[in-house]
Amino acid sequence: MAQNSENSSAPAHPPSSEAFAYLISELSTHLINAAPDEAEVHIERALAALGSNDRKDRCYVFLFDDDYKHMSNTHEWVNRGISAHKDELQNVPVEAMPWFFTSMRADGHVVVPSADQLPEVAGGFKDELLREHIQSMMAVGMYLEGRLIGFVGCDLVKRSCNWTEQDVRQMQLVADMITNTLARHRAESKLHQVQCELRAANERLAQLANEDGLTGLLNRRGLDVALDYELRRMQRKQQQLSVLMVDIDHFKALNDSRGHLAGDAALQRVADELKNAFKRSGEVVTRFGGDEFLIICPTMNEEEAEQRAAALVETIGNGKGHAQITISVGVVSFIPSPDTTQDEVMRRVDRAVYEAKHRGRNCYVLLPYNELQAKR
Ligand code: GH3
Ligand code: MG
Repeated sequence: MAQNSENSSAPAHPPSSEAFAYLISELSTHLINAAPDEAEVHIERALAALGSNDRKDRCYVFLFDDDYKHMSNTHEWVNRGISAHKDELQNVPVEAMPWFFTSMRADGHVVVPSADQLPEVAGGFKDELLREHIQSMMAVGMYLEGRLIGFVGCDLVKRSCNWTEQDVRQMQLVADMITNTLARHRAESKLHQVQCELRAANERLAQLANEDGLTGLLNRRGLDVALDYELRRMQRKQQQLSVLMVDIDHFKALNDSRGHLAGDAALQRVADELKNAFKRSGEVVTRFGGDEFLIICPTMNEEEAEQRAAALVETIGNGKGHAQITISVGVVSFIPSPDTTQDEVMRRVDRAVYEAKHRGRNCYVLLPYNELQAKR
């Protein structure tokens, strides 16, 4: 606790106002350029400047929380031999100090030359000062956009003081400086938050633009990107690419007989089966449109493509407990050449589906691809 003698007066020789102004202008330059973590140090140095030459025993900043119901001691400087209170003054209810805040709101500051002389109405606040042996204190409000956001204050332990206008002005200077710094950091952090939200929204938008709403699969646009990518990659690596197109048989009839919702459920079920069947690395399942799906399988030869197509026809055709549906599957498998185009691939695989429909549906057809490039 305080080492100062009982009820002595504050030193008669405060730092010259020029020296103080110089110190504060220097600190304010540092604060203008400071990142939030560096600012903490400069704020504490500003408090130390306020307290220099034994003028004060404790200088501090209190800030309100967002709902304005509590306040916390965010920064503190203490004189030699004076105990710090910052840790115990966190989330203090504002309503515990009605007199203090009424005075602060009325005058913009609270000046207490001697706690003994505080009026009765200051009740709880006075008791608190006396409990901490604070004989004298002063605080000035921190205002941001016209709103009180906290205050900067100082205590004298066991010393009274007839605070001068200059004392109040100096403290106001420090309070304004800290407020400006906090305002800048709050604005920067808000900006950063908004930027993050915007980035996330853009990512989500980009994803949605490539996603089919009903099945969650890539849509036509996503398919274009994925197919283009794999065509180039397999061409570069001279590896085989298999592409499967799946078309539900007589889907229109299902829609007509059981309704559009049952049709949607069937589309979702087929999508789930496809996702389940093609989840190896690099395999991409897309909804091409309507009741058509396209599956891109890099580094897959036709033998495996045929097996996978056959398994798919079997699995979906045997779907138990669901509306009975079958599918027709077209398969193409090839090593892309530098001039293989997406359109060409789509035409070929579409032709394979057509062939499967022609052969009676509920089957797959693999079309030889030698028109594009001979297989290895
Ligand atoms: P095929 O065996 O020759 O493929 O006959 P199909 O009836 O399946 O062929 P068609 O292409 O004529 O029918 C596709 C139907 O899919 C037509 C359309 O109304 C329906 N459809 C397209 N998109 C959706 C959708 O999102 N939900 C539902 N329920 N139906 C859709
Ligand atoms: Mg169909």
